Amino acid sequence: MVGDGVVRLREAGLRVTPQRLAVLDALSRRSHPTADDIYRDIAPVYPGLGLATVYNTLSALAARGQVLVVDDRGGRRYDLHVTPHQHIRCRRCGMLADLPHWNDRQWIDGATPAGWAVERWTLMADGLCPDCQSATPATPDEHDRN
Ligand SMILES: [Zn+2]
Repeated sequence: MVGDGVVRLREAGLRVTPQRLAVLDALSRRSHPTADDIYRDIAPVYPGLGLATVYNTLSALAARGQVLVVDDRGGRRYDLHVTPHQHIRCRRCGMLADLPHWNDRQWIDGATPAGWAVERWTLMADGLCPDCQSATPATPDEHDRN
């Protein structure tokens, strides 16, 4: 990861610093973390590091295509897996996992209202992760009433 982190930072036009490498290392250890998650992971090791540095590093990496930004209910999650792909979200714990890329251009073209030009699209599936399925039983409102 360290070698790869150096390449990603250079590709993003950022100077390689231990703090920025730590941002990428923390990102590689979690599944789709937020900037806050990354900050909490590395702040104890880099006491002078601010949340702004984490945000700025992630934004610069994203702007150069070295990190993918995943929109999650208005928040931003980050992903080192930058080739196009989709996600599934656990509606209980909020964990995200990757889905293969859904690239049905014919479906998109057929479904797009007249006059619109689609530039990019994402698919976010909702469900329950394996841990949440095996944990506490669903609350009454999570059950279909039948
Ligand atoms: Zn992903």
